[in-house]
Amino acid sequence: MEITRQKFLIVAASALLIPQVEVAFASSRVISRLPASKTKRFAWTVDDGASTSALGSYLNIAERGEHHMTLFVTSGYSSWRTHSKQIRKLVAEGKIQLGNHTVNHKDLSTLSATEIKKQLLGCHKFMLEEYGYDARPYYRPPYGNSNTQVRSVAAELGYTVSTMWYGSLGDTYGVPEARVIEFANKWILDEHIVIDHSNKIKTHRALEQIQHIAKSRGLRSVTLTEAFGKDFK
Ligand SMILES: [Zn+2]
Repeated sequence: MEITRQKFLIVAASALLIPQVEVAFASSRVISRLPASKTKRFAWTVDDGASTSALGSYLNIAERGEHHMTLFVTSGYSSWRTHSKQIRKLVAEGKIQLGNHTVNHKDLSTLSATEIKKQLLGCHKFMLEEYGYDARPYYRPPYGNSNTQVRSVAAELGYTVSTMWYGSLGDTYGVPEARVIEFANKWILDEHIVIDHSNKIKTHRALEQIQHIAKSRGLRSVTLTEAFGKDFK
């Protein structure tokens, strides 16, 4: 008891020696589902972009306007440049939203603060230059791996919303069509943020089925900003 008290006094005393400096403190949050709403909706989020044709197939679905998507950009992949024109158009039409998914898809939880900053800022600058788009506050740490340092560095850059998911279409690098449909059946539900990947082209049937499942459940995909509002941070 006495030791605890002594420790407390030492801490209290040293705290007084700390000069009063203004510390930029940015809070952050982690989301994995959408807020409740009277409208039935889910968020179809699509990451990476390793395959130019796969990314193209998602953009074409978004183009039709029935399902709005949030695309998490890994700026090191050339597909984001190849589709630049269409992306700018869909952003302007409010059919897609972009989020930061770093430059090289490294596991941020293994990097130094400087490296984390480089990964997020590199992607941020790419989107600004290529699309004139500021993706803040939404980012998704690759593999969903994060820690206090990652969240703190991201928040200092204005990326305060770490976007996780509530269900995956399970195809980081391709799974059979039947599995995609099985996952879609399991996870495309009201308020869910569903993660998907544009790394390998899906069959036409798989993509049609995803949309069919949503429709048959009266669900429409919305962007994160449509769900959370434009003032969300
Ligand atoms: Zn990813």
